[in-house]
Amino acid sequence: MDMGLTPPVLEAWSMFLAEMCTIYRVFLVKITKMQETGEKSSEKSLLPEDQKLFDTINNNDALLLKALLSEKPQNVNILDENNMTLLQHAAYKGNKDLVQILLDQGAEVTLCQHQHNYTALHFGALSGNPDVCLLLLEAGAKSTDTNSVGRTPSQMAAFVGHHNCVAVINNYVPKQDVECYKHTDSKTTPTLPSFLLDSFHKFIMQTNVHPIKVVMNIYSFVGLQDHLDEVKRVLESMREREMNRGPETNEVMSFKFHYLGYIVGEIRKLKDRQAAKKETAVEDEKKTDITEAFARKLLKPGKDDNLDFMDAFLKECIREFPFRESTLFRQMVTTLSGTQAPSALYVVNSVINGQRGFIDQIPHCNTCGEEKPAKKCSKCKVVQYCDRNCQRLHWTWHKKSCARLSPEAGVDNNKPNKEVDSSELQDFLSKN
Ligand SMILES: [Zn+2]
Ligand SMILES: [Zn+2]
Repeated sequence: MDMGLTPPVLEAWSMFLAEMCTIYRVFLVKITKMQETGEKSSEKSLLPEDQKLFDTINNNDALLLKALLSEKPQNVNILDENNMTLLQHAAYKGNKDLVQILLDQGAEVTLCQHQHNYTALHFGALSGNPDVCLLLLEAGAKSTDTNSVGRTPSQMAAFVGHHNCVAVINNYVPKQDVECYKHTDSKTTPTLPSFLLDSFHKFIMQTNVHPIKVVMNIYSFVGLQDHLDEVKRVLESMREREMNRGPETNEVMSFKFHYLGYIVGEIRKLKDRQAAKKETAVEDEKKTDITEAFARKLLKPGKDDNLDFMDAFLKECIREFPFRESTLFRQMVTTLSGTQAPSALYVVNSVINGQRGFIDQIPHCNTCGEEKPAKKCSKCKVVQYCDRNCQRLHWTWHKKSCARLSPEAGVDNNKPNKEVDSSELQDFLSKN
């Protein structure tokens, strides 16, 4: 991934787009035509009872689908005239319930006889529903399968702008990759207690990698906070493993495991420091929790209100990535040392979740980076948060600028929402 977008990259990118545009248009036109005119691409015609099954999917009729399949479970893997499975249709519809019913009834997730080699996961990625993608991945869908023009599901999702699907697919880790840390004969391989596996698995697949959110997750996923050392050691082991998979080497996931492990290590240090302090602390100081201490440190505004402390923290994390010869490390360093370099948070996020283009129109929580937060600060109505907790974590620093942003200070809050978002976006891009 190149973040500099140099001319050769731009050229390759526009060629890729042109190619994909054509393929996608042909594909869509074909599907629409077939749906409208009932045109069959082959001689094969469906039995009425089979057609009925495909109709239930077309009509999003989960109840009828379930009823029909419980009568004849052997029909779950039938193909239509275009050799598409029920599961592929349901995935393309982006209907999670239908997908779940089919999987429960034994639909084969990797069954693919579609003439352009689109798997169920390709269709799920095109539907734009990340939950559908996750269900398919959990059922064994392969994110590396390519269609007839060599594109993976995540590339197709990126092409049509479904970035949530890209993030879910790229961050997916098969359960067995974690389960192997349950027991080990090797003295050098770290282990995790079995009750921690689910929390740990969720933790490593998180797609919002804002450092504050990562810390919130350490505290909200059961058990992690009490096993920081084990979690860090396993993450380090996974970091090595991703780099030594031969042709399947995944530099991005290796970096992600490094990144999470670095934050876990930081929380461990903060915890120790607070434990030492507590011996002598006055009542008031004892109340500060670790998340709050971490947020206070990282969200502290520096020069020109930039998040200099967050930036320094993340750059240090990148610097400690042990694989300095990797393409990924060199790209991050080049991007960060350029003139008008983006923030380290932006770089980390685009490395892990893929680029979202030049301008990100989606509003973010000012504390944890979660997309489309539900609340605004009631005083200035400018900064946005997920909930009261996120607002509380930001308040130490926001209270200083809140008055400045308030309506009384002349900021026009009656602008249409869209404009507020775009100005915040500029703010986000320049500050973060
Ligand atoms: Zn938040
Ligand atoms: Zn405010």
